[in-house]
Amino acid sequence: MIIRYERNGKVKHGWMVQEENKVRVIEGDIYKVESAKPIMTGLELPLDEVSLLAPCTPSKIVCIGLNYKDHAEEIGKELPAEPLMFLKPSTTVIGPGEPIVYPKLTENLHYEGELAVVIKKEARRIKAEEADDYILGFTCAIDVTARDLQWRDGQWTRAKGFDTFCPLGPAIASKLDYNDLRIVTRVNGEIRQDSNTNQMVFTVPQLLEAITAVMTLLPGDVVLTGTPSGVGELQPGDEVSVTIEGIGTLSARVNKEE
Ligand code: MG
Repeated sequence: MIIRYERNGKVKHGWMVQEENKVRVIEGDIYKVESAKPIMTGLELPLDEVSLLAPCTPSKIVCIGLNYKDHAEEIGKELPAEPLMFLKPSTTVIGPGEPIVYPKLTENLHYEGELAVVIKKEARRIKAEEADDYILGFTCAIDVTARDLQWRDGQWTRAKGFDTFCPLGPAIASKLDYNDLRIVTRVNGEIRQDSNTNQMVFTVPQLLEAITAVMTLLPGDVVLTGTPSGVGELQPGDEVSVTIEGIGTLSARVNKEE
């Protein structure tokens, strides 16, 4: 699995071998698939000697609302006829272990555990059948949401856009059957969401076709594919985590804004 890490002030990508507690160092741009291929240096580091960062640095995060049948049912909404899209700014991204800041402007902060797609190469007007060619892999995400602001504003820029509202990580897994993955969200160790990506209304390839009919996706861009049932509140001091089969666990603590 691909990770992005910092060590001695330098940021690099690596290949994580969890069973051996090791990182294989990669030189170069992991998104360059043609001439300037990334190089596996042969160098290895102990996993605990690196600080994990968000595994990519998206120019934008495209999110999908109401994309799980069980979640639409839970909130009494009809299934959407086409994907409902919104954006989170790139400044919402934080890495594994970084805290989510509970803003003073909200009194109702929610977690939404989600499967995140990481884009490999520029994608414009692609068809669902070719979507796999444009996917680098998958990681875990939390679509942190100020629920009160979401309903008050009528649109979602403020509710979804605070700094730290998009934890991503810990790693990018590439070979996954993304149509059948268990996804579990826990708060303080207690299960709150427990579903499967087979509950999605629109599949990942269908989402990429719909999104790229509107906007170009760039290497490293991220698509959040919606959240299953069981969304709920977070309080300062809570520890929230999302575990997705084949990827791993992303955790974040909630800190009150100073
Ligand atoms: Mg969401």
